[in-house]
Formats: sequence, structure tokens, C-alpha cells
Amino acid sequence: MYERHHYIAGKDVEGTSGRFGPIFNPSIGQQQGKVALASKAEVESAIAAAEAAFPAWSGTSVVKRARVLQNLVQILYREKDALAEALSMEHGKVFSDAQGDVQRGLKVAEFAQGIPHLLKGEYSDNVGGGIDMYSMRKPLGVVAGITPFNFPAMIPLWMSCMAIACGNTYVLKPSEKDPSVPMMLAKLWAEAGLPDGVFNVINGDKEAVDTICTDPRVKAVSFVGSTPIAQYVYSTATAHGKRCQAMGGAKNHMVVMPDADLDQVADALIGAAYGSAGERCMAISVAVPVGKQVADKMVEMLTPRVEALKVGHCMDMDAELGPLVTADHMAKVRGYLDLAEQEGSDVVVDGRNFKYNMQGYEDGYYLGGSLFDNVKPGMRSYREEIFGPTLQIVRAETFDDAIRLPTEHEFGNGTSIFTRDGDTARAYANNVEVGMVGVNVPIPVPLAFHTFGGWKSSAFGDINQHGMEGVRFYTKTKTVTQRWPTGIRSGAEFVIPTLNS
Ligand code: NAD
Repeated sequence: MYERHHYIAGKDVEGTSGRFGPIFNPSIGQQQGKVALASKAEVESAIAAAEAAFPAWSGTSVVKRARVLQNLVQILYREKDALAEALSMEHGKVFSDAQGDVQRGLKVAEFAQGIPHLLKGEYSDNVGGGIDMYSMRKPLGVVAGITPFNFPAMIPLWMSCMAIACGNTYVLKPSEKDPSVPMMLAKLWAEAGLPDGVFNVINGDKEAVDTICTDPRVKAVSFVGSTPIAQYVYSTATAHGKRCQAMGGAKNHMVVMPDADLDQVADALIGAAYGSAGERCMAISVAVPVGKQVADKMVEMLTPRVEALKVGHCMDMDAELGPLVTADHMAKVRGYLDLAEQEGSDVVVDGRNFKYNMQGYEDGYYLGGSLFDNVKPGMRSYREEIFGPTLQIVRAETFDDAIRLPTEHEFGNGTSIFTRDGDTARAYANNVEVGMVGVNVPIPVPLAFHTFGGWKSSAFGDINQHGMEGVRFYTKTKTVTQRWPTGIRSGAEFVIPTLNS
């Protein structure tokens, strides 16, 4: 049984609150460790460490900051598999998928290496009367990240690489379900040459989150997690004068037009709905075939493939998906599957009775893949996020009916359309009320140099993750109006300067 504590000011720090949370190994269904849950005072000490480190780090030349990111990229490549294995053992996602989790975070580190270019301001010379005007991007100070269980490498890296490259100092509050990878990242940052106190990890629960959201020294909070907590963090942090971005839950639809390549569609749906046991905010959880013919054909093609999904231990290299993260989460998903049946949708494949026959793994948090047909928009199991290995089919008669579903849904994270028709694809991409759209691409997760963020109840706040939006989130603009040489006199002016001389 191992323990995870905190990392503050460049040191491992033992938790003193006396409170712990369990860390499970979902593949065998046993507790394997415990994580210290920080008290308010412990969070405050992490914030104080970050505050103390801010003057020197923000004053470090942008080229030197970039060099730390360059080092980190090399170290992350070296440690990718070790991170992925630690991640799999606490999260349950299969090893190859965990490698992808690390890789996606690494890509943001690579993007952040270009921070000297990304931080360039604007300059206008001689805007009038010997006056030049320029703007620069300044770091905010201490900023914090609060992250979910489902991407314990990618999301802390999304946030911290951009924040730190911009010159801020950082407090990370990762998910208490899989804290090991964030703690490993702290060591890797240090090895990359990051000074003590710039990157701190505080493990904890609501007490830690509340402290971060209310402490006046924290200037910005980036949150990713479920919608109710995203809403809570957004309202609390903004009420305390902080900049906040809070990404929430999802229900992502994939529209299948009658002209789509159905083999491609079946591959796309199997991977996007069941990969990572459906525990992705960009998982496709709803398929919307347009027309009866395509719907019937799709069900016929998907059924044997869902039945044949290889569910297994996270380190079984043949497994396509692993267990759910905890027994509680498995029970919640199972509850939604029961609800979907009670609400009258057709159970085409039932993953609830999946039994893992390998000795030693019987208690793992496994569900097989489930497939529901004839799901209706009024059903609660359709309106809410399930976050498990299941796909719901909502049949639509026309393209207009199909686009209305994601558009009118409470969530608006991602969506995709499969079609061979450019007009239809273009109309979908332009008009659907969702933040990230794929065309013949099942999981449209933007790369690091673009920006990630949903709409409606999938994201609160105006500025997205990474890309140039990341630079904007972690900086504030200062604009300087200067006159050189100083000898120019225009006399006292009592009207607002228009600089048109
Ligand atoms: P969660 O909301 O339970 O937890 C997220 C963070 O909030 C954790 O650090 C947790 O400790 C903290 N937290 C939990 N309860 C809290 C409370 N009552 N008060 C204050 N803080 C609290 O989410 P999760 O289960 O870890 O992650 C899964 C969710 O995250 C899903 O809804 C998924 O869609 C969403 N998600 C969204 C995105 C996105 O970009 N939109 C990306 C990944 C995951």
C-alpha cells in the first residue's frame, strides 16, 4: 500500500491533515494506496510557495523559460512508458491508450517551447507627435489547475505547460483518484530545470478546491471535470475576482448520413464510443443515423463488434478497453444502463453482465460494451452524461432532425458527421451548436496549436485551453504609450488625446 502526499517548493511534503482518500487498482478491484487530502493550511502553503517563486520566474528571460520546456519535452519522451504504466494502474485505461494520454500532453509541452514567439506583443511606431505605442503580455502570478481523473497526464500538462511558459507559478490540484502521474510530473519539471516553487502539487478534495477558488493570491483557475463542479468552481472563483475557465461534461453525437461509408462509420463508432471504456469527454456516446435504412444497417454492423469487444486488465496488450475507474463509477454507469432500459430504449447489446474469467481479476470494475437503439431525446439517460462503455442510437429522419439533436442538447463539447457530401458537412460544421466538430473524424480533439473547448454546459468562461487561447488565458495585456525624444511640447491639452497631430 503506497501513499501519495504533496509536492511543495521543490520537496515532497507529508500531508498533516490526517485525512486520506483511497487509490484503487481498477483492473483487480482492490485498494492499492492512499492519497493525503490537504487541509486549508496545506493548500495555503503551496500557494505561498508559488507566490514566493513568482518574481524570479516571471523575471526569467523568455528564452530560458523556453529551454525548460525543451528539456521537459525530452524527458517526457524518455519517461512516456513509465508514466503510461503508472497511469493505467490507477485509471484502468489500457496501456496504449495511456501512452496516448501522455502524448497529447507532451504535444502541448512542444507547443509551449515556442513561447518566445507566442508571447510577442504588438508595436506601432509614430502614432502621432513622436509617440510610439506597444503592448506586451504579462503573466498573472499564481495560477491553479484542478483536474479530473480521466486524463491524469494530458490535462495537467495542457494547463501547466502554458501557464509556466507564460511566466506564472503554479499549483496543481489533481484528481484524488489517480494522483501518481501528477506527482511524477513534478519530479520531471524539476529535472527539466524548473526552479523550486514554480510547480507545486497539492492533493485533496473539496477543501483544497475551495481554498484555491477563494484565496486572493490565486489569480486564475483552470478547471476540467463534471458540469456541476465546473459551474461551482466557475461561480466561486469569479466571485473571488479570479479569471476562470471551467470545462464540464459532454454528450457527443455522431451524425451518420445515408451516403456515409458505413465500414468507416463502424470503425469510428467502435473506437470513439468504447475506447477508454467511454471515460472521455470527447467519447461519442450518441449515434444519429439519418433514415431507417442506414440505422438498421448500422445496428447490424455494430452488434457483433460490440459483443466481441476485448475488455481486459489495463496491461493486457490485447485488451481494447479496461475497467471503469472505481466501483462507485461502475455502479453509476450500471444505473444509467438500467434507466435506459426502463425508459424504453431497446437493449441491443447488454454489457451489464460481463464477467472477467481470468483468475485474480474477478473483482475488477469491468463492464462490457452496451448498445441501445431507439433512444428518444426526452429520456433522462439521453440527456445526462453516462461516461461508460455504451452507445445510444437516436434515429433521425432528416438532416434537419439530426442537427437539431446536438444543437438542442444541454452539452456542446464535441460532435462529428460522416458523409461524402461537402454541402452537408459544411452546413453541419457551420450551424451545429457545439464547440468542436469532426467531419469524417470521430474524435475531433484539436491539436496543441489549436484550442480545446466546448460550448453550453460543457464549458464556463470565455477562453479555451491551449493554442493561442492558452496564452491569452495565462497573461494580461499591458499597452504602453511613449514619447521619445522627450523634448516635444504640445502644451497642456484638456480634451482626450486623439494623437492626430
Ligand atoms: P469531477 O467533477 O468529479 O472532479 C474534477 C475535480 O473536481 C477533481 O479534482 C475533484 O477532486 C474535484 N471535485 C470533485 N467534487 C468536488 C466538489 N464537490 N467540490 C469541489 N471540487 C470537487 O470529475 P471527474 O469524475 O474527475 O472527471 C470526469 C468528468 O470530467 C466528466 O464529466 C467528463 O466529461 C469531464 N471532462 C471534461 C473535459 C472537457 O474538456 N470538457 C475533459 C475531461 C473530462
